[in-house]
Amino acid sequence: MSTQKNITVVGAGLVGSLMSIYLAKRGHKVNIYERRGDMRKEKVAAGRSINLALSDRGWRGLEGVGIAEEIRKIAIPMYGRSIHMKDGTSAYQQYGKDNHAIYSVSRGGINMRLMDLAEQQPNVKIHFEERCDKLDRKSNEITFYNTGSETSSKIKSDFILASDGAFSAVRMQMQLQSDRFDYRQFYIDCGYKELTIPAGKNGEHVIEKNALHIWPRGSFMMIALPNMDGSFTCTLFFQMEGKVSFEGLKTKEEVTDFFNREFPDAVKIMPTYLEDWFINPVASLVTVKCKPWVWDEKIALIGDAAHAIVPFYGQGMNCGFEDCVVLDELINKHGDLTGACLHEYELLRKPDADAIADLALDNFIEMRDKTGDKTFLLQKKIEAHFNSKHPEKWIPLYTMVTYTPSIRYSEALQSGQKQQFIMDKIMQMPNIEAKWDSEEVETAMLNLL
Ligand SMILES: Cc1cc2nc3c(=O)[nH]c(=O)nc-3n(C[C@H](O)[C@H](O)[C@H](O)COP(=O)(O)OP(=O)(O)OC[C@H]3O[C@@H](n4cnc5c(N)ncnc54)[C@H](O)[C@@H]3O)c2cc1C
Repeated sequence: MSTQKNITVVGAGLVGSLMSIYLAKRGHKVNIYERRGDMRKEKVAAGRSINLALSDRGWRGLEGVGIAEEIRKIAIPMYGRSIHMKDGTSAYQQYGKDNHAIYSVSRGGINMRLMDLAEQQPNVKIHFEERCDKLDRKSNEITFYNTGSETSSKIKSDFILASDGAFSAVRMQMQLQSDRFDYRQFYIDCGYKELTIPAGKNGEHVIEKNALHIWPRGSFMMIALPNMDGSFTCTLFFQMEGKVSFEGLKTKEEVTDFFNREFPDAVKIMPTYLEDWFINPVASLVTVKCKPWVWDEKIALIGDAAHAIVPFYGQGMNCGFEDCVVLDELINKHGDLTGACLHEYELLRKPDADAIADLALDNFIEMRDKTGDKTFLLQKKIEAHFNSKHPEKWIPLYTMVTYTPSIRYSEALQSGQKQQFIMDKIMQMPNIEAKWDSEEVETAMLNLL
């Protein structure tokens, strides 16, 4: 029998807010402590103006507490990738069949909506400007520092769920106070900067609204996702250091030359790119892997606090929302939120989080380097053709990760590796360009499977 618990959630970001709704619907008393002020009152765009791609795993998380329709109101479907070449031409690649789409949502927009929905639960309270500073393992007590009143308070609860993001303070406390805490963080050599494509004169989107736009350029790339107001948020993923890099391009002339050379079509619709370049910060991209996620049967890491990943599969938030689904299913299985339930959550999710972390790193190479490559596009065409003939035998990796929550990330990674082994052989077949949809290729693939 489920009994009411007093639960502290650290961080009112995307995952903490959603997890609180799940817990509140079970009757638990949830207090969320958030370091920042209330972004809904401060009318700031949630720190980062960036938009995120929400896909099926994330939707499943939202549907689990009946709030998907609310979020759908602020989401724009993207049915494919629009690839912009250096010569100014572009090509459209549909994501999949059956109107498969990923959805562009503003980070601030979805975070504020999730906070509203969490606060609509009578047993959820969000405390702002409360920074988690210390965790006393023995007493299960957290010290929060109120940045407004500059005072500290100690909060004791039955369970602590830490959803305080990639640089989690709770995780740091676990690291400091544990004898054997595994921790690995690594940065890629690229960082990112946000730029803007504003709306047209009548508030319209000036390039295809329902697509994720990519300017792949080998070692770097720019992407753009649509916003509800007709604008696009562009993100330039670019080397941090070197001659041609964020650090290397110093003057207006150097930046102008770079944009004219690399993004000739985009530059015409980015009137503020120079201001954006010099005003907007460069941020770095980190992967965090750690273990354990669960401490003393009552403290658990969720979302980025447990597994921060690079954004190239568009899965960080989706994976965090899936954490909430898995934890909720385990509460059902165990009949209550218990230590055993938390341990099983870690056992199940850790391999999946590690898998999506690796897939996301691989996908950077695919997006920046291969989306404009003829051989890669032919391989994808062969896979799609084979999938249409043998859907039970072959689901493309992107489809498994993005549209198939019933397949775990770790299973998708394994199947993807097997598929790549097969495709390496198929792409070696003489004259493959001409016979890609032939019976010979189909039979070869069936044999290799
Ligand atoms: C450039 C970029 C693009 C991305 N694109 C996508 C995408 O397309 N699709 C996708 O699924 N994911 C994407 N992600 C990943 C996604 O943003 C994260 O996975 C997601 O935000 C994780 O949610 P979270 O709630 O775990 O952490 P966060 O959203 O970071 O929330 C953590 C919260 O904890 C609070 N906090 C931090 N420290 C403390 C403290 N000491 N005390 C109290 N509160 C604290 C923070 O203020 C914040 O509100 C992207 C990430 C980046 C960087």
